[in-house]
Order: sequence, then structure tokens, then C-alpha cells
Amino acid sequence: MTAPVLVWLRQDLRLADQAAFLAAAAEGPVVPVYVLDDETPRHRRMGGASRWWLHHSLKSLDEGLRQRGSRLILRRGPAHRELAELAREVGARRVHALAHVEPWWRNAERAVAKTLDLVLHEGQYLAPPGTVLTGSGLPYKIYTPFWRALSERMPTHRPVPAPGRIDAPASWPDGDRLDDWTLVPTRPDWAAGFRTRWTPGEVGAHERLDMFIGKASRYGEWRNFPSVEGTSRLSPHLHFGEISAATVWHSVADAGGSVSTFLGEVGWRDYAANVLLQMPDYAGRSAREAFERFPWREDADDLRAWQTGMTGYPIVDAGMRELWATGWMHNRVRMIAASFLVKHLLIDWREGERWFWDTLVDADHAINAVNWQWTAGTGVDSNMFVRIMAPLTQSPKFDAAGYIRRWVPELSDVADADIHDPRIRPRGYPAPLIDHPHARARALAAHAGFKAQE
Ligand code: FAD
Repeated sequence: MTAPVLVWLRQDLRLADQAAFLAAAAEGPVVPVYVLDDETPRHRRMGGASRWWLHHSLKSLDEGLRQRGSRLILRRGPAHRELAELAREVGARRVHALAHVEPWWRNAERAVAKTLDLVLHEGQYLAPPGTVLTGSGLPYKIYTPFWRALSERMPTHRPVPAPGRIDAPASWPDGDRLDDWTLVPTRPDWAAGFRTRWTPGEVGAHERLDMFIGKASRYGEWRNFPSVEGTSRLSPHLHFGEISAATVWHSVADAGGSVSTFLGEVGWRDYAANVLLQMPDYAGRSAREAFERFPWREDADDLRAWQTGMTGYPIVDAGMRELWATGWMHNRVRMIAASFLVKHLLIDWREGERWFWDTLVDADHAINAVNWQWTAGTGVDSNMFVRIMAPLTQSPKFDAAGYIRRWVPELSDVADADIHDPRIRPRGYPAPLIDHPHARARALAAHAGFKAQE
């Protein structure tokens, strides 16, 4: 019998349009493996919300594999060690995997390639990261020209269907039991709101896409209004690779209508990967070096108030509570809440990046860092520290009354006109941590002082 090959799965937990599976299935028997690697150094351990998602996504992938005569083997430890050991047990030499941009995955790939024949395939993005280059062959720093160049290469490849059958090896190696990994919380079980909102896994991802397609042409009109479900909510599915960016692209483009704004957002994923490839420590350091000397405030009480949705700014609090309850927050509100932390509270953007990393089901190393640095004005692509977003103006502008009422029950009886900044605060709802004009003046003064020393 032909020797089996391994398929090493990471943030690509799908069978359709999965080049590693296709290549492996064409070679002979396949041993699909997921390695929970908490030991290879990474910028931070996988967050709690991501672990919840991962548990359900792995379960769903195993079901999909079993329908095709295969199964998912689970191992825990440094990826290179576990893969070498598994390959020895089953007599495999070759490993197929999709390429990833996170620095720790790239290190792991190098380590695996030392002992095994690692074949990396593309498929996480619209175009392979590192291939969208300027006329002089350099990577782009700014989104708009990057997107223009990427658009010229679109459409991306047509997605390939999942293999109908995947050959099993003569005997299956041992693996861990998913439940033994305790990825889901029990005491306390904080994931009740996650279960009602999400269906992790490939089937759930396609259902989510199908729900969105009918609305995609109105995305440009609705996407900034948090009270409306106007965006796709595909982000965790895309992060875990349960659906490919190519599948999303073609399904939405084929549906017709004005979908270019939406496709441009999907392009932001590619852009973030392109930034991380150039600056692997993007989540750790301000790209505008001078901001490493910015006088950030260290205020544990203010940080806690922000994290728990108790700032006294209803739109910020609604967002932070939606995040805690469901593992997701509307993009417009992410921008407002992030800006509030950095500019109103003058707290280092990395504290926000860290909190989002732990609480978002779509927590993505590249995307999170790029968006935090963009909002803070510390990134390669923005110099906006002095543009201070006004939450009390943003909230009525984007008609957030319904959203606030849903997530801040203390304000449920307040009239729409007052809910953005209630004059009388119901019992239990705090006064603003700082008023907007004062916060604005403080942020501008801190920035001016810091500029003077540059
Ligand atoms: P849609 O609006 O339907 O967009 C479709 C897809 O495009 C998304 O699923 C996502 O994959 C991609 N996308 C959309 N906006 C962006 C963007 N600004 N940057 C990169 N890709 C984008 N998104 C994450 O996936 N993971 C993160 O860790 C993350 N952290 C963020 C932190 C901050 C401070 C901010 C302001 C934004 C962050 N975002 C992050 C981007 C954005 O908020 C989410 O991708 C979006 O809200 C997800 O909802 P959706 O799937 O309905 O998006």
C-alpha cells in the first residue's frame, strides 16, 4: 500500500477549496492532523474566545472527514515534534499544509521542514501574501495602492469543491480526545451568548455566507449601522479558514449588484497579512517608532471600566458588552471603542489589542494589530492620532439607539433622543469617566508635548 501523507491543519479548518487536502488526497491515504501547540513561542497564547471557537470547529471538521471515510487526529505539543512523531508512527514522509503568515507559524514551518518533506500551498487569501508588489518590486505600506494592485489581479481562482472521499491509512494512529483539551469554559460558562449567535465549522460558514448574499448589495448602505445586521459576520469563519476568501469573493461577485465596498473589505485581510509579513512584530511595537516614547497612562481602573463596558459612554459600553457576551463587535463600534481607549483614556493601544485578542472569536494576529495601529494613528498607514473620534456624535450619526438598548439594559427605558448621552443616569449606570472636551484637550496636549520632544 502507498505510504500515507499528513495534512497539517491550522487556521484552514475546511475541506472545500483546501489545496493541501486536494494535493494529499491525490497522492494516497491521508492522515489529517491538528496540533494544539501552546509551546512554540508566539506573541501571546491563543485567547479564550478563540479556544471556544476552535473546539467546535475541530468537531465539525472531524464530522466532515468521517463522512468521507477519514477522521481528524489530534495531538498536543510543539508542532514540529508532534508531526515528526506522527509521521514516524504511520510511515509518512510528506506533509501538506496551507501557508500562514503569523511569525510563529512560519517558524514552525521551518522547523517541520528540517525533518519532513513539507509542501506548502496557498489559499488563505485572495492572493498569496508577499506577491502584491509595487512597480519596483517592493511591498505596499498603504492600503489604497495595495488594493488597487490586488484588484488588478482579481478575480481570484475559482474555488475547488471538497474531495468526495479521502483514503484512510491501513490503521489509524492514536490521538487526543477533544474534550480533554478543555477548550470550552465550564466554571464559569461564559459562552452561552456565543452558542446562540454562532455555528462554528464549515457548514456554519456556508450558511452564514448564504444568509449574507441576499443583502450583499446593500452592504455599502448598512455596514456602519450597528442596530442593523448589515455586515456578513464571516470574520471568525474566515479567520479559522472554514471558508476560503476565494469562495466568499466569487459567491458575492456572482450574486451581482454593487458589491465592490464589501470586496474591498475582504481585501483588507490581504492587506493586513501583507503588513505582518513586512513587520512581524506589528502587534508588539508602534510602526511610527516615536510612539514608543508616547506618555501613555497606566490606569487599571479606567482600563477595567473600558473592558467591562462601564465607561459611561453608551455606544462604547454597548460595544464592549456585545464583545464580552458574543465574542464579536460591530466594526463601526470597534473603531469607536478602540479610539476611546487610546485617545480619551490615553491607554496604550497594546492593552486594547491584548483584550481583543482574548475576547474576539475572530481574533487575528495581523488584522487585530493593523486595525489597532490604524485607529491609534501609530501605524504605517495612518497618522491620525490628532483626529479624535467623538463617541457622542458618532452614536446618533450611525443610529445606534437600538443597539445601545440591546446591550446596555440599564438604559432600556431612555428615549432614543437621549440614549446616546443620557442627562439623567439610571441607577447602576455610571457617569462618563471623562467628558469629551476635556479628554480631547488632554489627548492633544499629550501629543503636542510628545511631538515637541521628538
Ligand atoms: P464584513 O464587514 O462583512 O467584512 C467581510 C470580511 O472582510 C470580514 O469578515 C473580515 O475578514 C474582512 N474585514 C472587514 N473589515 C476589515 C478590516 N478593517 N481589516 C481587515 N479585515 C477586514 N477583524 C478580524 O477579523 N479580526 C480581528 O482581530 C479584528 N480586530 C479589529 C480591531 C479593531 C480595533 C478594529 C477597528 C477592527 C478589527 N477587525 C478585526 C476588523 C473588523 O472589525 C472585522 O473584520 C469585522 O467587524 C468583522 O465583521 P464582518 O465579518 O461582518 O465583516
